[in-house]
Parts: sequence; C-alpha cells; structure tokens
Amino acid sequence: MRQSKLFMPTLKETPADAVAKSHQIMLRGGYIRQVTAGVYSYLPLAFRVLKKAENIIEEEMANIGVNEMQMPHLLPATLWEESGRLQKYGAEMFRLTDRHDRESLLGPTHEETFTEIIGKNMKSYKQMPIALYQIQTKFRDENRPRFGLLRGREFVMLDGYSFAATREQLDEQFDDQYKAYKKIFKRCGVTVRPVIADSGTMGGKNSTEFQAPAAIGEDVIATNESGTYSANLEMACSIDTFKPEKEEAKPLNKVSTPNVHTIEELADFLKVPTTKIVKSVLYIVDEKDPVLVLIRGDKEVNEVKLTHVLDCDSLRVAEDAELAKIAGVGKGGLGPVNASFAKEIIADETVKDLTNFIVGAETDAQYENTNLGRDFEVTTFADIRTANEGEPDPIDHEPLKFTTSIEVGHIFKLGTYYTETMGAKFLDQNGKTQPVIMGSYGIGVSRMLSAIVEQHQTENGVAWPKEVAPFAIHIVQMKMNDDAQTELATKLENDYQKYDVLYDDRKERAGVKFAEADLVGAPIRITVGKKASEGIVEVKRAGDDQSQDMTLDELQKFVETELG
Ligand code: ATP
Ligand code: MG
Repeated sequence: MRQSKLFMPTLKETPADAVAKSHQIMLRGGYIRQVTAGVYSYLPLAFRVLKKAENIIEEEMANIGVNEMQMPHLLPATLWEESGRLQKYGAEMFRLTDRHDRESLLGPTHEETFTEIIGKNMKSYKQMPIALYQIQTKFRDENRPRFGLLRGREFVMLDGYSFAATREQLDEQFDDQYKAYKKIFKRCGVTVRPVIADSGTMGGKNSTEFQAPAAIGEDVIATNESGTYSANLEMACSIDTFKPEKEEAKPLNKVSTPNVHTIEELADFLKVPTTKIVKSVLYIVDEKDPVLVLIRGDKEVNEVKLTHVLDCDSLRVAEDAELAKIAGVGKGGLGPVNASFAKEIIADETVKDLTNFIVGAETDAQYENTNLGRDFEVTTFADIRTANEGEPDPIDHEPLKFTTSIEVGHIFKLGTYYTETMGAKFLDQNGKTQPVIMGSYGIGVSRMLSAIVEQHQTENGVAWPKEVAPFAIHIVQMKMNDDAQTELATKLENDYQKYDVLYDDRKERAGVKFAEADLVGAPIRITVGKKASEGIVEVKRAGDDQSQDMTLDELQKFVETELG
C-alpha cells in the first residue's frame, strides 16, 4: 500500500479526554474515531488489526473443530423472556420497539439464540458434542463507556457456545477452548494470565478469565510468585493469619459511643484493635430480603463472594432510611444481637474464633464482650471477605500480589441453566430425555486491540506484534525527488510483496514521516535515504531506539528472521 493513498488522519495533539494510553495512540494515529459515547469507527489501520486478529481466531477455532456462523443482532424480546433474562439483564440492554409494537433488543450476548437453535435441531446424543461461535458486534448500554475500545457500548466479540451430552464431553470441549484461547492470545501478542473468575448471573462453575496485565486495567488480579494461584480479586481467597486470643466469656456490656462513625474511630475511642470489632452490614437481597452480614473490623466484604453464598440475583447495602425502618438504628448501631429483622445472618470465617468482641447495639452505642452462640447465632459462616495484598495464597501460601488488568476473554462451564429453562433437550443413550450441557466462551476482540496497544506502547506510538500489525514492513523514503531512492524503495516494495508493505511515498518532511511511522508501528521499518545509491538502507525494529545500516542481502536475512 502507498501511504499517499492511505486514510490515516493523525492528530498532533493528544486529545484531552483520552485517559488511556492506548486510546490516545489510536486517536493520534488515526486508527479510530468516536461517533458517539462508546461507539467507534474503525479506520483502515484499526480495521486491518481487527481483521488479522479475527483471522487468527478463525484459524484456531477451525483447529479445534468449532463451527463459525452468524446470528442476527436484532433479537425478539420473547426469546429473552423464555430464559428469564429480559428483566434480569437490566439497564445494559438496548431495547427497541418495532412498528407493530413488538419489543426487540440488540444482542448483548447470545446464549438464548444459540440455545434455541440447538434445542430445535439437536435431538440425540449422537449429534453431540458440537461447538459453535461467531465474531460479531455486540451492544451494551454500559454505564461508563470509556478508554476507547476498552469499554464500548458497541464492540466486537467472539462468542462461542458448546453443547454436550455428558460432563466429560463438556470438560474436553472446555479444555480445547482453553488451549485455543492461549494460542490466540499468544499469536496476537497479548500476554495473558488465566485466572479464577466469577461466572456472573448466568450460573455455572469453572470459570476462567484471560487477563492482560496493564496499567489502565479495570480489574485487579491476585497472583502468587510461582504462578500456582491466580484469581480475579472478585473471587480471590487468602489465608487469614490473625490468631485471636481465646478468652473466658465476659458479661455483655453496652457502652455509649457518640459521634463515632468509622471502625477506626471506634477502635480509637474504645482503645482496642480493629480485630476486636465485628462490623455489621445490612444487605437487601433480591430487592426483598434483609440479610445481616458480619465481618471482622479489619476486613472488607466481597460482594461477589457474598452473592455466591446467598445464591441470589442481586444485593445491595441498605440505605440509611431502610436501615432505620428495618432495624430501627442508625449506621454504626447495627448489630447481630436481637437481630430478628434479618432473614439470615451470614458471617465471614474471620468472625468464627473471636471472643468478647464488639458489635453495634443501637444508635450511638455498642456492645462489648459479645460472644457467638451466647448472644446471637449465625446462619452461615463462609469466606465472604476481600483478599488483601501480601496475605498468603490458599495453595502455596506465598504472598499475594495485586496487578491491574484487562479482561480479554472469559470461558466457563455454563451447565444446564439455559437448556433447562428453554427446553433444549436430547435423548441420551438409554432413550432418556436430558438437558443439553453448555459451555460459554468469549473474547473481547475490539477490546483486545486496546490491550495490545497498552502492552506494546512505545514512547511515541506502538510496536505491533507481527501477526496483527496493520503493516509488517514500513518503507520510508526520505526524498521523493531522489531517483536512486525511488528506484530502491520501489524495488523493496516489490521484493517484499508477500508481506503487508506500507510505502511512504509522500512529499513530507522526514520528521513528519518518522513521527507517523512510530504510530503505524510496523515491526520492521526500512528507511531509504542518502545511501540508497550504494544499496544500503537503515533498518529499525518498531520500539528499538537505534537503527542499523544494512545491505539488501542483510536486509533479506533480517526480514526472514523477524517475520518468518
Ligand atoms: P466486564 O466485566 O469487563 O464488563 P463482562 O463480564 O461483562 O466484562 P462478558 O459478558 O464475559 O464480559 O463478555 C465477553 C468478553 O467481551 C469480555 O471478556 C470482554 O473482553 C469483552 N467485553 C465485555 N464488555 C465489553 C465492552 N463494554 N467493551 C468491549 N469489550 C467488552
Ligand atoms: Mg460487563
């Protein structure tokens, strides 16, 4: 491709509202433009990367025998009523009404669509296992679209679904996908860590996210040094190293604690460590049930873990007015003694071995010397706490390290939630009707573009990994009116035809050409300049500071080693 023909509208200034480095680079380099919040146009450079990433995905999916197909974007609401997700999915869903007043939606994900087609067409165990996928634009009315392609309202996703007759088949399908995903990310040049993840509201266990560590990441992953434990902080477990002293139970005693608002203030006021205090939080579960949650004063509640323990669709901390109405107390006064207002009391394991601890009694008052069993009962003990950095991991007891990270993929064993609710059944070997067993697999393809740029940014642009680079070789001719340079540059353009070559044939200043070459980020840059008449070019890898003079033979070898 000739650069004089390339549509690459670069920007000199970094747009002020672009926070993420990848967003800045992609705007400056003319890769993308925003059309409206969270909705982008992919200009030629980004489109090339996108297509290359999609090709890699297609190859790797073909390798494990997964069918590519295409489902519609526009879906009838009735399909989502069947699965029960029309209400559950909430405000992220783009809904619309057609001229006949029929409700529709723009697909945010396609479990329902795929389950329906399988349910209607697969009747026997003999037709399974089978797996399908599509690469398609998804629509989600995200609360905070941001960081360019990282969190869009319209984005490109690979979504795959597997259908099996037995658990063993599902395990195999999951394994195949896991391995294929690792290959896809490797070929796309994204460094990822598979981590234990939450499977959200869709049910299902064995959930793995592929996380790309990056400064701008919205997720936090907890990992140990040897790599034997990695989890999204939402699911991360740690060992509690605090060993409480066993004391004789003392009599319950109410103390006045006026103007004390936080756990730290309470610890100061009563001159005790925060580990002597048990925090009480009132949650409203599924918008109806008040559940009292207890946790040691130095720990925080992890709401994802709590959601799993309660097996609920939603939960939220009660507002002050609700707290007053339900429990008859102000914040800080809430506690488990005489808590008949609570449907259940869930306590973190850190509460189990405490004796003579402090809990809320009423507004501006606390109980000292509270004891489990004597003063109140707990319905369920569970790990519902947020892990802290430095705590021992649950496998090898090494200190946990936290890293911000971008979720680029997510695979999980979905089970039979959709197939049961939507009636996708088959006849097993014994002629018995069974629900099909599903797996669900996704890659944020457009998000991955940003993740690649985040991980491969350079001082003035990006150094694209070779398999996804918009161009593999960038020939930059210094002087367009120099015949020797033109002759050599054109020869190279021809010689390297089998690679994606961009030839900067524009009458621009060298400074402009180099600055833009940094934004194109081709793995190999060949500058054709003063020594062209001697058959010598300057060669530089994207991201390297120094270039090297090379003869055409040396260049040939270099290109072969670098690009294969
Ligand atoms: P997140 O927690 O980031 O919102 P999610 O759990 O909603 O992600 P999934 O429903 O599992 O995401 O979607 C599959 C993949 O699609 C994710 O792993 C992610 O890479 C990508 N993805 C999800 N939401 C967006 C978005 N708003 N913009 C771009 N990519 C997205
Ligand atoms: Mg989401």
